[in-house]
Amino acid sequence: VQERRNIMKYTPMIQQYLAIKAQYRDAFLFFRLGDFYELFFEDALTASRELEITLTGREGGGEERIPMCGVPYHSVDTYIAQLIEKGYKVAICEQVEDPKQAKGVVRREVTRVITPGTVMEGKFLQDKENNYLLSVYKQEDAFALAACDISTGEFYVTEVGSESHLLDEVMQYRPSEVVLLADDVTVEEGVSERLKLYSIAVTKRSVERQEADQDPHKGFRTLFGDVKSGRESTHAMLVAASGLLSYLRETQKRSLDHLHRVTIYEASSFMVLDQFTRRNLELVETIRDKSKKGSLLWLLDQTVTAMGGRLLRRWIDKPLLSKAEIERRQAAVQALLDGWLARDELRTCLKDVYDLERLAGRIAYGTASPRDLVQLKSSLKAVPGLKRILRELAVGSDALRDVADRLDPCRDIVEIIDNGIVDEPPVAMKEGGLIKEGYHEYLDKLRTASREGKQWIASLEQQERQATGIRSLKVGYNKVFGYYIEVTKANLSALPEGRYERKQTLANAERFITPELKEKEALILEAEEKRSELEYQLFVEIRERIAREVKRLQTLALQVATVDVLQSLATVAQDNRYVRPEILTEGPLVIRDGRHPVVEAVLHGEPFVPNDTELGLDRQILLITGPNMAGKSTYMRQVALIVIMAQMGSFVPAEFAQVTPVDRIFTRIGAADDLVGGQSTFMVEMKEIEVTLTNAGERSLVIIDELGRGTSTSEGMSIAQAVIEYLHNDIGCKTLVSTHYHELSHLEATLDRLENFHMAVNETEDNVIFLRKLVNGPADKSYGIYCAQIAGLPPRIIERANQLLDEYEGAVAREVAPGGEQLQTNKQNSGAEPVCEPITIGAPAAEEAEQLELFWNPGQPAAGK
Ligand code: ADP
Repeated sequence: VQERRNIMKYTPMIQQYLAIKAQYRDAFLFFRLGDFYELFFEDALTASRELEITLTGREGGGEERIPMCGVPYHSVDTYIAQLIEKGYKVAICEQVEDPKQAKGVVRREVTRVITPGTVMEGKFLQDKENNYLLSVYKQEDAFALAACDISTGEFYVTEVGSESHLLDEVMQYRPSEVVLLADDVTVEEGVSERLKLYSIAVTKRSVERQEADQDPHKGFRTLFGDVKSGRESTHAMLVAASGLLSYLRETQKRSLDHLHRVTIYEASSFMVLDQFTRRNLELVETIRDKSKKGSLLWLLDQTVTAMGGRLLRRWIDKPLLSKAEIERRQAAVQALLDGWLARDELRTCLKDVYDLERLAGRIAYGTASPRDLVQLKSSLKAVPGLKRILRELAVGSDALRDVADRLDPCRDIVEIIDNGIVDEPPVAMKEGGLIKEGYHEYLDKLRTASREGKQWIASLEQQERQATGIRSLKVGYNKVFGYYIEVTKANLSALPEGRYERKQTLANAERFITPELKEKEALILEAEEKRSELEYQLFVEIRERIAREVKRLQTLALQVATVDVLQSLATVAQDNRYVRPEILTEGPLVIRDGRHPVVEAVLHGEPFVPNDTELGLDRQILLITGPNMAGKSTYMRQVALIVIMAQMGSFVPAEFAQVTPVDRIFTRIGAADDLVGGQSTFMVEMKEIEVTLTNAGERSLVIIDELGRGTSTSEGMSIAQAVIEYLHNDIGCKTLVSTHYHELSHLEATLDRLENFHMAVNETEDNVIFLRKLVNGPADKSYGIYCAQIAGLPPRIIERANQLLDEYEGAVAREVAPGGEQLQTNKQNSGAEPVCEPITIGAPAAEEAEQLELFWNPGQPAAGK
């Protein structure tokens, strides 16, 4: 009652505002008032701050003025974009009746809610990135997730078994918004806090009750019609999908026909990459500045189309597990690699293809412009060419031939557009000039009418000159007075009386009209107005006809994107001399002369030193020691990247590779900055190790860089040893561990599937040269002080540090030496050190490198050679 009374004190318009705002509490309400969108109360206070616009006030019936700010309607997009970018939502409230005809307050309604996950407009979107909106729903122990990009029409659904897996899956989409569905909207605080940390907008909604006994599969068919299923659908998935769909319907308030292609997938049929690993390996962005440049995606992206760019990202996000599927992609890449001439032609052809996926989205959504249709037409016209080139290339790849055969050039759609829409339509949609001549009879009549009218006027000048004898008489047009006859003052006397009506006086001329002129003018204007209206109407009809074919366009878009990604992989493989890895069903990981694909690409002239890897039943863990800057982490990342590339279907930077698909890669690399908030680096490290130890299985690949630092030496070493023992004895996964505790190398004696390696260095009197070569046996010291020297610490400090080190090592030696195990091991192994020729830093010539101990077991020929 109190609230009601509070509302009643306001003017009717403010009451209307409050009633609408009550339904959109979590969005800025942009309230249309004439030529402005106005914001009031709290909204105005926040928006004026966020958008840096002036805060004003308005009398509204209350005691105090109501805070208000506004933006002009024609530039509203930029303001909306700013708010969306910051993770806010915007509800657009329009006047839905003509103010002139309204009795009382003009009727207003919210016509659309724009949220970070539901923007459609090209200018808010990145070409080569998807914009995903997700929903998650928890039912007992199952977490269902639905993901949708409304700009492209993709819709995916899956279910996972734990909260951590859910977060990994969620982060893989890099969503801009997540809808948390719960039976009670207050739950899932944990998940929601986590998401907010990554600046993902979170919307909470309660679940719409589903029929308890509804068959999920039937439910999906009812919702989407077309379901592609890689697994059984569950009730939780159905709740997640329908929750997402109903959120979209509520915010978009229009056709969502293009969201038909729901794919139900098994998250575990792809390699799982947790968010730490994705970050550490710099798969799609670098750690340092979050840019694409320097990431694996950047290296592999030679795609020509935006859709190809987005699909490549998805391939990197979801490497495959099945040998057959990987080989299918490989065969296609091979075919494209072999036919490099045709591939060039293919790339040229792809350049003519616009973003079909988003064009199709806009067409179905009803926002496509005539120019979009022309882009669609020229894209479709490129398809027959693509088909021909692909057929030529497809020898040797069934996958490629399959795509080639199924490519649908959509000739009917080309024809519809070609017949109706002019080749270069104007930007404005409602001012005519869109439809071709001969397309519509009445339209042609209107055109003729206005053309004839204009011709009549054009000939009028000649006629009037003859009739009056005034040679300088002119017929002109302006927006205010329409058509007129202009006569200079000097000639006024020659005009006959009565026939001309004076309209406007200029400095040295007078303008006149005649009844006939006005009559023709009215005809022209009427014809033009009708014509523009009719043209718009015809355009919308054409758009709707094409909208019915949206599924075909989406299928075509996916095929073209696939071809684009495959050619991109082939192009990269050729440019960088990659090889096709052999895929095994089970067994070892063998890489001969492997390189780090990105480091290699950015070394500028310096040669990259290749290294071997062999992990299998006998050798499960490589314990890598060696000084800082020696190349340990580069080496370990290179192994992980090669595995990921191989499982994407890409070729790899090596001379030879055999890859047994791994189900997950875990990494603990370098100093992750504090993402989770308020935790020490050590704590973050331990968390990541915990994730690894609880989730890794026999088929996983684990990479741990600098295990056990961040605490005291003895503690760090103890933790490291315990972790390594656990990985060795209990999990049995393929593992690469680097540590600067060279003392840990004694583990080789007790763990039979662990082997010591180190990065070779060449030490001279006053210099250390990094050879970047991985060799058998442990390192004998850390070279930390040498690094400090390179980093430019003052010589006095370096001297003092060396002196302290001598003292310290002397003390330790005295303590441990009599039968001390660690020292013993070091001694034994230091005998196996390779003898290195002195060569310049970082760039051993190939032959010199050859002289090093290249292979794992000197006596035994390495696999593949
Ligand atoms: P660590 O982990 O041992 O401290 P990094 O792996 O960070 O060393 O390597 C240090 C630098 O050495 C890298 O930035 C890279 O430029 C260079 N580097 C590493 N491995 C190689 C290699 N195999 N060939 C050439 N340069 C390399």
